[in-house]
Amino acid sequence: METKFKQETIALHGGQKVDPVTRSRAVPLYQTTSYVFENTEHAASLFKMQGDGYIYSRNANPTNTVLEERLARLEGGVGAFAVSSGQAAILITVLTLAQAGEEIVATNALYGGTYTLFAKTLPRFGVTVRFVDGKNFAEVEAAMNEKTRAVFTETIGNPSLEIADIEHLSEIAHHHKIPLIVDNTFATPFLSKPIEYGADIIVHSITKFIGGHGTSIGGAIIDSGKFAWSNEKFPTFVEPNEVICNRSFVEVACEKAFITKARFELGHDFGVTLSPFNAWLFIQGLESLSVRIHKHVSNAEQVAEYLARHELVEWINYPTLPEDKQNDSAKKYLPKGAGSIFSFGIKGGLESAKTFINSVQLLSHVANVGDSKTLVIHPASTSHSRLTPEQRISSGVTPELIRLSIGLEDVEDIISDIDQALKKADQSSKIAN
Ligand SMILES: *Cc1c(COP(=O)(O)O)cnc(C)c1O
Repeated sequence: METKFKQETIALHGGQKVDPVTRSRAVPLYQTTSYVFENTEHAASLFKMQGDGYIYSRNANPTNTVLEERLARLEGGVGAFAVSSGQAAILITVLTLAQAGEEIVATNALYGGTYTLFAKTLPRFGVTVRFVDGKNFAEVEAAMNEKTRAVFTETIGNPSLEIADIEHLSEIAHHHKIPLIVDNTFATPFLSKPIEYGADIIVHSITKFIGGHGTSIGGAIIDSGKFAWSNEKFPTFVEPNEVICNRSFVEVACEKAFITKARFELGHDFGVTLSPFNAWLFIQGLESLSVRIHKHVSNAEQVAEYLARHELVEWINYPTLPEDKQNDSAKKYLPKGAGSIFSFGIKGGLESAKTFINSVQLLSHVANVGDSKTLVIHPASTSHSRLTPEQRISSGVTPELIRLSIGLEDVEDIISDIDQALKKADQSSKIAN
């Protein structure tokens, strides 16, 4: 497909070559584990990674390939690997870069699952994660040492909505000859393209806006193709590797070295590939993402404006509200809107927060975000409950914080449900006092 097409068009056509036998318009679902070799020579050449072709769906599958190429093109990268979850995308990315004894630096406003992976699980396998305040560049710099192998951040941090200064963080990382990894789940490539600001690797939970309909768990890793791996920090990229016939990943895959290594080493060994059926569902989601995301944003903006004026709201974090402290970062990194996930603090603290959640009717109380339906959760007692109180505060999760993920319903219905739940929370706190 020609490269001149714009984002909306790529989301519908990118990566698909119409099947010459059936001429199927929709992307076919190749629900298969394996592929018939033409002969022994053909089989041998595929195993030596010479020429294109599929061997086994744990490594690659034609339906997944369409999703991967589409995502890579939307993010402005050279290649992608679709995996079984957002967590798998983060795990495979980090472990492709850092081995036991090495470290990564991560900003501390992170998705709860990522925080637990970094704070608890990776250290058990010898990889240390140093958490920093992503806005304090001196602190970021001070956390770096000769063992650091990557910097990790989220475009829009969870749940405090901290907008990463991707340009500045990538400069710091590149100065130390290490890549910047950006989790772009909350923004999607329709609101932000971190590679344009210097990010080297993008990870996604495609479970969220990309799938869009709350049906499947999936993740993706996208390689910008821009990082120079031939430096002393990444010997496993330039050393001969048995997996690819004693050549190196840089030699075999050039600018796709990272994504090729992620797929054929850890993807292959850990078995985290996305199932073709789920890849096919994610393709359906991606095809309408461009129209959905703008409706998410406009609904979220209206709900945020309503909450900002409400007397029972202690504070609200929505970066494009005119009075928000992150307004300048939002203008730079999220000019088309700050997504539809945000948080607010309810007056009356923990008890009011609980009454609010127990009183919503249209809103769904679930552990998810980025669905077409409006969702609500109280992170301190759920997604971030495994953290210590200090860790919760450093990730911005306070007892009165309620997180919303605004969906595609009529915005008046969303607001009236929030309104009645706020009234109930107010009444119950008055009775309690
Ligand atoms: C959901 C989410 C993840 C984890 O993704 P799963 O698909 O649930 O494994 C990681 N990062 C962010 C920002 C998320 O929202």
